[in-house]
Amino acid sequence: MAGGWANDGAVQEQIDSSIEDAIQRARSQLPRGESLSHCEECAAAIPEARRNAIPGVHLCVACQIAHDKEQARFSGYNRRGSKDSQLR
Ligand SMILES: [Zn+2]
Repeated sequence: MAGGWANDGAVQEQIDSSIEDAIQRARSQLPRGESLSHCEECAAAIPEARRNAIPGVHLCVACQIAHDKEQARFSGYNRRGSKDSQLR
């Protein structure tokens, strides 16, 4: 899938499905309850700045990154679509 910009039609299709995907993902990732002081996965302390920035956060930075990568791989797209729409 590298170099996806070569085929405009395929890219547009990918963006369309990515937006739906992103909406569903955003809904499933809405903050639930209060921010945790310690990571749910590895029990590392979550910095206060991170808890303030992300209400309801329950993963430390390292686990969040790993989690995001897993999700991106699972859904088969790399956030380019949602980033693009934010720039408009
Ligand atoms: Zn963690």
